[in-house]
Amino acid sequence: MSKVAANDLSVFRPGLLNGQVALITGGGTGIGLGISELLAELGAHVVIASRRPANHEAAVEAIRARGHAASSVALDVRDQAAVQSVVQNVATTHGRIDLLVNNAAGNFYAPSATLSPNAWKAVVEIDLYGTFYCSQAVHSVMKAQGGGRIVSTSMTLHYRGWPLMAHATAAKAGVDALTRTLAVEWAPDRIRVNAIAPGPIPTEGVRKAFAPPADSGAPDLFAAAEEKMAEYARTGIPLGRWGTPRDIANMVAFLASPAGDWITGAIFVVDGGEWLAKAPS
Ligand code: NAP
Repeated sequence: MSKVAANDLSVFRPGLLNGQVALITGGGTGIGLGISELLAELGAHVVIASRRPANHEAAVEAIRARGHAASSVALDVRDQAAVQSVVQNVATTHGRIDLLVNNAAGNFYAPSATLSPNAWKAVVEIDLYGTFYCSQAVHSVMKAQGGGRIVSTSMTLHYRGWPLMAHATAAKAGVDALTRTLAVEWAPDRIRVNAIAPGPIPTEGVRKAFAPPADSGAPDLFAAAEEKMAEYARTGIPLGRWGTPRDIANMVAFLASPAGDWITGAIFVVDGGEWLAKAPS
């Protein structure tokens, strides 16, 4: 067993991303917040875009309090015109956008047989349409500046079947397809397009995905299963623990650094070996 915990030390040199501008959707909470924090620590100016000021403004305040550069903007990634406008504003204000992180997503468990059109649409629109709208919007900015990088957040649940998540698995399979296609299509513009497929990371987003509808009186499955889940992390994940936002942020920082120069169209699984070892559900 290593004596150094994974998140104790950064392998990245200070100032690695100095001068870079990174736009991170959903960058105010969970995994996105971990990404925003690390990129800002490494010198990038991070622009966090999400719907709720309570999320993105609080994150910016915390990042600035540590002496790093951050700003935020309200955005629903499902609104293509708003995405275009935010991207143009960020490009005008900062002169460039080096990195787009498509991290915003919505999710919940629901049986496919009774999934409503609205529920299906909400998740597919945030995860897949939002990823496309944001990627498409930064394309002209990145092309004009001579290149850039896009990193999207996928998942591993669609590698096998994952009951009760038809909406999210379908959307993320689309994100994977988009990653490979855009990588090839935009390589001549020097835009690298990659994705990261995180394993289980117990963020508030995951907790909410398990939450029963308000006032339903149904038990909170996540809370009810917390002890069993801790046991699962120890025994079901080959590397023996849940992931952390920093685990994913490290991969984003690598891809944003010069080390990512010859990487495009790749989907990096960062999951402690979970999906390979997982018993069919
Ligand atoms: P989270 O905490 O729920 O974060 C989701 C973020 O997306 C929130 O900050 C939310 O902010 C933003 N968002 C949601 N809808 C949006 C919209 N329409 N427009 C703009 N922003 C929106 O979730 P997480 O667990 O950190 O997950 C982050 C990413 O990792 C997601 O893509 C998820 O699918 C992926 N992932 C997570 C896990 C995991 O175990 N946690 C595993 C595999 C993949 P607002 O509410 O302010 O808009």
